[in-house]
Amino acid sequence: MDYLQGLNPEQQAAVKQINGPVMIIAGAGSGKTRVITFRVAHLIRNGVDAFNILVLTFTNKAAREMRERINHLVGPDAKNIWMGTFHSVFAKLLRVEADKIGYPNNFTIYDTDDSKSVLRAILKEMNLDDKLYSPNFVYSRISAAKNNLVSWQEYQKNEQIQADDFSSGRGQLGVIYQNYATRCYRAGAMDFDDLLFKTNELLKNYPEVLNKYQHKFKYLMVDEYQDTNFSQYLIVKRLAAVNENICVVGDDAQSIYAFRGANIQNILNFEKDYPDLKVFKLEQNYRSTQNIVNVANSIISNNKEQLKKNVFSEKEAGDKIKVMRAFSDNEEGKLVAESIMQERSTRGLKWHDFAILYRTNAQSRSMEEALRKMGTPYKIYGGLSFYQRKEIKDLIAYFRLTFNPSDEEALKRVINYPRRGIGDTTVDRIIVSADQHQITPFEVIINPSKYLDGRTSASVGAFATMIQSFQVITKTQTAYESALHIAQHSGLLKDLYEDKSVEGLNRYENIQELLNGIKEFSEREDIEERGLDVFMQDVALLTNDDKDNNANADTVSLMTIHSSKGLEFPQVYVVGLEENLFPSQMSLNSRTDLEEERRLFYVATTRAENKLTLSYATSRFKFGTLISCEPSRFLDEIDARYLDLDLTAKPVTGNDAFFSDERTAWSKGNDTFSKPKQPTVKTTSILAKAHVPSAGFAPSDTSNLQVGMDVEHERFGFGKVISLEGNKPDIKATIFFKEIGQKQLLLKFAKLRII
Ligand code: ATP
Ligand code: MG
Repeated sequence: MDYLQGLNPEQQAAVKQINGPVMIIAGAGSGKTRVITFRVAHLIRNGVDAFNILVLTFTNKAAREMRERINHLVGPDAKNIWMGTFHSVFAKLLRVEADKIGYPNNFTIYDTDDSKSVLRAILKEMNLDDKLYSPNFVYSRISAAKNNLVSWQEYQKNEQIQADDFSSGRGQLGVIYQNYATRCYRAGAMDFDDLLFKTNELLKNYPEVLNKYQHKFKYLMVDEYQDTNFSQYLIVKRLAAVNENICVVGDDAQSIYAFRGANIQNILNFEKDYPDLKVFKLEQNYRSTQNIVNVANSIISNNKEQLKKNVFSEKEAGDKIKVMRAFSDNEEGKLVAESIMQERSTRGLKWHDFAILYRTNAQSRSMEEALRKMGTPYKIYGGLSFYQRKEIKDLIAYFRLTFNPSDEEALKRVINYPRRGIGDTTVDRIIVSADQHQITPFEVIINPSKYLDGRTSASVGAFATMIQSFQVITKTQTAYESALHIAQHSGLLKDLYEDKSVEGLNRYENIQELLNGIKEFSEREDIEERGLDVFMQDVALLTNDDKDNNANADTVSLMTIHSSKGLEFPQVYVVGLEENLFPSQMSLNSRTDLEEERRLFYVATTRAENKLTLSYATSRFKFGTLISCEPSRFLDEIDARYLDLDLTAKPVTGNDAFFSDERTAWSKGNDTFSKPKQPTVKTTSILAKAHVPSAGFAPSDTSNLQVGMDVEHERFGFGKVISLEGNKPDIKATIFFKEIGQKQLLLKFAKLRII
C-alpha cells in the first residue's frame, strides 16, 4: 500500500475505515481533502466500483482537481465517480428523474437574474411596492424557505411565519412564493434552490427512486461539511440511510455560509444520527509555517463558539506576518503590487504563487489597476462570470428556448432581440393570453392568429417558426453546428458584428469564445453524448473558474475570501483590513455575525503556505466619496509577537479626511455587545505598538479643549488640536497626531488627555 505512505497514521486510519459512518472535524490545512482523495483511491483499489462512489465538493474546480489526483492514483476508473458540487450532482440526477415530479427532463435552470426577473413580473402583476417587497429580499426569503424545506403550501399554513410577515407589513410573501413556484413550474424551470428542494421531494415521495440511488451510491463523501444547509444535510442523510457508508470532513472554524443557511447544527447532528460514528482527529497542519498557524489560532481563539482543536505545524517558523498600511485604496494596490514584484524576484517565485484575497468584489478594482500598471499578469476568480454577460446570456437563451419552449424568461429575453418589431405591449399581451388560456407563452405564439390580433401576429409567428426550425437542426447536428446555426439565423451574430464600438467588438469576441468552447465540447472523446442539449445541461451552474481550463497559467490570483475556501498559495495578501469593511458593517449588530466574519478571517489567513501579508488603507473611496478608515479590530486581536509592522506609508493630510471615532461610538452605543476581551491588548495590539499610553493614562475633561492645545489619545498618541467644530455635545475635534496624521474625533467619545 505504497500510495498510503503520503499520509500520517491518523489520516491512514481514516482512509482505511471504509465501512460505516466517519467524521473528521479538523483545522485548516490538516489534510481533510487529502484524506477524501486517498479514501476514494483506496476504495477503488479495494474493488469498489467507481460508479458506486459519490463525492460532494465545494466547487466544480475542486472536483476536477480531485478527479485528476485520483486518476493519478488509480487510473481511468476515476472518470466514473459521481463527483461535483451539490448543485451539479443533483441537477444531473434530476435530469434523469424529473418527469416523476412533473418536470421535463430538459428543464431549464434559472439563475438568480432569471429568478429576480420572474419576481419583478409577479410584483408588477400583484401591484406590490417593490421597495417593501424588493426582488432581492423576496428572493432571499423564498430561498431560505426552500433551504429549510418549507414549500409554499407550508409557508402559507405556518402561523409563526404568517404572523412575522404580517407584522412586518409583508403579508403577501406567501402568495408571491406560490405565484413564483407556479410560474417556474409552468416554465419547466428550476432555480438553484429547487435543485436541492426538488431532489428532497423526489427522494421523500418516491421510495423506488430513493432505493435506486441508495444502492447506487454505496459510498458517500462530503468535503466542507460545515457549510451544508438543512436541505443538503437531508439529501445526504437519505442517500446514506441504507449502507451508512458516509464520511464527512469539515472544520467548524471555517463555517462561512451561515447567511445562506449553512448550519453548524449539521455537524452536531451527525453524532446523533449515527451512534456508531468513528471520529478522527487531524492536528498537524501541513500547509503553513508555524507563524501562520499560530496567528490563525490566535484569531480564532477570540470566538466563543467553536469546537476545541489543537493545530500545530512542523514546518519552519517562517517569516512573521507582515502588516502594511497605505493612505488610500489606490496606494494599497500599489504597495501590494510592488511587494509581489519584489518577493517574486528575491525568492525566485512564480506569479501563480501569489493570491490577493478581499472581503468584497469591489476591492478588486484598485488591485487590478496597480497590477496592470506594473505589467503583472493576474486573473480574477469569481466575480461576474463569463456566462453572466449579456451577449452570452442572449445566445444561451436561444438555446434554452430551443430545448424547452416553455422557458418564459428565455422567451422574454430574445423574442425581440435582435429587434424584429415585437414591442413590449405585444409581449405583455402574449403573457396575459397564456395566463388566461392556461397555456405557455410559446403555445400562444405558435398559434398567433388564434390568441393575438392580426397586426402583430406575423412577426410573432415568424419567431416561433424560427425556434421550431432550430429544434429540427439540433436533433441531427453536433453541438457546435447547432450553436453556430442558431447564432447566425437568430440574427444575433450579425447584430453584434455590425456594432463597431470597442464594447461591440468585445461582445462579438465573447460569442466567438463561447462557440469555441462548444466546439471543444463537440470534440471531446471522454463522453458519449455531445449534443448541444448536453452542453446546456449545467451551463447555468458554471462559473468563470470552470470555463478556464488553463489552470496552470502563470498569473496572480485575485478572489474573495469566500471563494478561496479549500485553496492554498505560497504567499497570500489579505487586503482591506479596516473596520466596516472587514469586519463588514453588516456584521456589527450581533456576536454571531461578528464571529462569522472572524471565521472568514481565519479562512483567509490559513490559505497561506509560507508568507502572509495583511494590509489596510487609512482612507478609501466608497460610493464616490473619500472616507477615513480605521484599522480592523482583527489586527488588534493578533498577538504582536508574530507581526512585522510596516507602517511607513505617509499619513493622510489635507481636509478631505473625515474621521469620527466610529468604533468607539459604536461600542458605547451598543451595550448588547462589547469587543471581545483582549487581555494582552496593552502590549501586543498593533495600535498599542504604535503608541503605548503614558503610565496612568486617564481621559481628562475635554469640555474646555481649545485649538492649539497638546493632547494625548489612548491609542493614537500625542497630537495637536487643529480645529473644533459643531456644538455640544457633538463637538468634533480635528487633531494632528504625530504618529498617524490627521484625524477627526467626536469629543464625547474620544479617549483624550490634555497635556
Ligand atoms: P482546508 O481546511 O483549508 O480545506 P484541508 O484540511 O482540506 O484544508 P488539505 O488541503 O487536504 O487540507 O491539505 C493541506 C496541504 O497539506 C495540502 O497541500 C496537502 O497535500 C498537504 N498534506 C496533507 N497531509 C499531508 C501529509 N500527511 N504529508 C504531506 N503533505 C500533506
Ligand atoms: Mg480542504
